[in-house]
Amino acid sequence: MFSRILIANRGEIAVRLLRACRELGISPAVAYAPVDRDTLAVELADVAVELKGDTPRGCYLDIHGLLEAARKVGAQAIHPGYGFVSENADFSRLCRESGIVFIGPSPEVIYGLGNKNQARKLMTSAGLPVVPGTEDPVPTVEEAVEHARGIGYPLLIKASGGGGGRGMRRVENEAELRQAFPQARSESQAAFGSGDLFLEKYVERPRHIEIQILGDSHGNAVYLGERECSIQRRFQKMIEEAPSPALTPELRQRMGEAAVAGAKKLGYCGAGTFEFLVDAQRNFYFLEVNTRLQVEHPVTEQITGLDLVKLQIRVAHGEVLPIRQEDIHLRGWSMECRITCEDPYRGFLPTPGKVERLHLPAGPGVRVDTHLYQGYEIPAAFDSMVAKLITTGRDREEARTRMLVALREFQLAGISHTIPFHLAVLEHPEFVAGNLTTHFLPEHLPKLARTRTPQELNLMTAVAAVEGRSRETLAPAVVDASEAQLWKMAGR
Ligand code: ADP
Ligand code: ADP
Ligand code: MG
Repeated sequence: MFSRILIANRGEIAVRLLRACRELGISPAVAYAPVDRDTLAVELADVAVELKGDTPRGCYLDIHGLLEAARKVGAQAIHPGYGFVSENADFSRLCRESGIVFIGPSPEVIYGLGNKNQARKLMTSAGLPVVPGTEDPVPTVEEAVEHARGIGYPLLIKASGGGGGRGMRRVENEAELRQAFPQARSESQAAFGSGDLFLEKYVERPRHIEIQILGDSHGNAVYLGERECSIQRRFQKMIEEAPSPALTPELRQRMGEAAVAGAKKLGYCGAGTFEFLVDAQRNFYFLEVNTRLQVEHPVTEQITGLDLVKLQIRVAHGEVLPIRQEDIHLRGWSMECRITCEDPYRGFLPTPGKVERLHLPAGPGVRVDTHLYQGYEIPAAFDSMVAKLITTGRDREEARTRMLVALREFQLAGISHTIPFHLAVLEHPEFVAGNLTTHFLPEHLPKLARTRTPQELNLMTAVAAVEGRSRETLAPAVVDASEAQLWKMAGR
């Protein structure tokens, strides 16, 4: 086994990776940007190397700097986590050329899947159903209009190099297409360095359901069930669960086998996620493969009893997958809330700042993946996710109830955060019933997160102080409350 791994990431995932290293008897090293000197991962690591860069983000994207850090600490492997360089084919190649193991797929696989058009083609040839759309990038508006006649509206303009929910536009008709196409092109050029666009039929009220797979370097691959990720805001996931309330064992098997066929076709080594849309008739369509560990991997770990990070490390070291498909059994139900330092009452405005007070929930079936500690100053330079709260129960209702209890117990003061928003979603009758589509948040958000003024927030803090509880615990009761009610509460 490796004796040392360099963790090329930050935040909660750096801590998660570090723990897996420790369990395997591997010495964890962490590379960090100067603003991250006081983070938990740096404190917990055996060694930490400061990175250089023009911006904090730039530090974690500098593939040469990361490699140099790995050499400096004598690491034989680098774990990139998610985001940053985790899906960077050049980095995977550079590692290989330098004799350092990149914990993730080969550069060829990452490259082949990094472009959405290419990925669609590859997977079609592996027998996977894809959303109807154009095979290749569409060079001109006129050609787009022509293709659109064949595909039918509404449709989605997508950036071939897109990711993270960006670079997508829904259009209803030809006029909208003509208008949106050039805008999408310049946006894509600016965000992804390529103006390549393609068209996809818009699947109405779909569910986003993804299959976790794991492959080794000996040609083996298995699927670890699915995750339901339909609760999205601006195409970004906010709450995930496993299994999905929509899948039958038969459909799970079909989707799982399709993903495994795709993985085997690629010679996929490592953990990967095959994302699909599932429509109301339970047809499924391949979207893309994420060639890395996913943010929401814990819900899969909870119901399979497997540690995905340790398995990633073992297959990267060349081991044969220690599990066969028939060894994988799903047990119970797990949910995850992505807690971010954003203010749900002010359009999810990022609100970094100092964690003045922190109490993490605990108890049966409760897991918190976070790098927060009391006194920690959350920098503004990175993604706003600060904790993942994961609850597991025998069935969906037990997992959901545990989540409600844990969210109410969670105390995070000093910054605004999304706990009140999560509570409101988890109590929504449609969520309770498991009727989830990607339209859930766009449809219900206006009611769930009413705009609040800073004065109201101060008032809530005052009410909370008088009542001796955290402001967040007030939120569900006052989501729809008028100002008059708030004043009444304050009066009391
Ligand atoms: P997933 O399907 O895994 O959620 P996403 O497309 O949401 O994939 O991408 C990962 C998300 O995590 C992005 O929003 C990205 O900005 C964010 N992210 C990347 N690296 C980090 C990190 N170190 N800490 C917190 N968030 C991160
Ligand atoms: P990204 O790389 O940004 O993650 P994806 O292709 O995975 O892009 O799509 C992200 C989300 O956008 C999906 O989870 C879904 O909510 C929505 N989406 C993508 N393609 C379609 C489609 N053809 N029809 C309807 N919704 C879609
Ligand atoms: Mg995606």
